[in-house]
Amino acid sequence: MLRNFKVLTPSSLNEVLYVISHIDQPYRFLCGGTDVLVRMKDNPAYAKVLVDISKIRELAKIEEHKSTYVIGSGAKHDAVLAYAPFVEKYNGLVEAVAAIGSPQIRSIGTLGGNIGNASPAGDSIAPLMAFDAEVELRSHESNRIVKLEDFFIGPGKSVMKSNEIITKIILPKFDGLRSGWKRLGQRRAVTISKVSAALAINCVKHPNGSIRVADVKIALGAVAPTVIRARKTEKFLLETPNLNAAAVKQACEIACRESRPITDIRSNTEYRSEMCGVLLGDLIDRLVFGR
Ligand SMILES: Cc1cc2nc3c(=O)[nH]c(=O)nc-3n(C[C@H](O)[C@H](O)[C@H](O)COP(=O)(O)OP(=O)(O)OC[C@H]3O[C@@H](n4cnc5c(N)ncnc54)[C@H](O)[C@@H]3O)c2cc1C
Repeated sequence: MLRNFKVLTPSSLNEVLYVISHIDQPYRFLCGGTDVLVRMKDNPAYAKVLVDISKIRELAKIEEHKSTYVIGSGAKHDAVLAYAPFVEKYNGLVEAVAAIGSPQIRSIGTLGGNIGNASPAGDSIAPLMAFDAEVELRSHESNRIVKLEDFFIGPGKSVMKSNEIITKIILPKFDGLRSGWKRLGQRRAVTISKVSAALAINCVKHPNGSIRVADVKIALGAVAPTVIRARKTEKFLLETPNLNAAAVKQACEIACRESRPITDIRSNTEYRSEMCGVLLGDLIDRLVFGR
């Protein structure tokens, strides 16, 4: 049973910003509560004060702008899955969010909570990072935009200051990228990822049959202290004159070497590292060769 904690319930974003700039005790946000309450049960010291942001409407919107989509940090996973432009053009994000937890978890869990938790296994993070997403961090005094790739600094740690909140996730619009996401876990559903990979890729087929990679973005989850971009693999693919089977194999080997996994209760270093290549190979097969 959860005992001895305080819940503050600001009624607008301005009130949230005021509360977190004046609070003098360690606190956590309560949005869907699917992470924070579980952790408090395991460790009552995890949070003694919760700032309930679950009813702040301005945090829950998803909007289309000229060159971006802006997702409020309080947008629920189900809302992301129901947003038509994402279903059409951001398949990698939709696949990842659809795999989070169970229908119950997706109906209350949020993207802001998945990011705020800063777990290297947070499933929405790899596709968002692969799409070059940014987050808006707001405090009472300031407002800054941080690339998601620069947001995380370790397991459970980010550059967010104690007087800041993630208000928005900013997703650039792209032309021509096909994307996908895949993970391995102990089970097919309601499982924590052992390894995950997100790929967004645009290939051009030449009349001579060769395939050139015009654009590629790869992010790997649960294989380093934070979700990471596989920059060396991306560079190799962009410079490859023809994306044939040998080039795909080489790209997958580079991805394995870019990972820095640990051994823990869910998996071990060798398996995680090897599976980075397997997942990337599967995604290239599906998105480029339609297999
Ligand atoms: C049974 C079960 C299955 C799960 N399966 C998965 C899974 O498959 N994949 C996966 O990735 N996760 C999974 N989770 C974890 C969790 O559901 C997700 O991470 C979810 O997205 C968290 O969102 P939330 O709104 O519930 O976060 P909360 O629990 O409300 O908050 C989580 C953390 O984020 C911080 N936070 C929340 N909102 C903000 C904000 N706007 N700005 C800054 N910080 C913020 C809070 O301070 C807290 O530290 C599972 C959890 C359970 C209980």
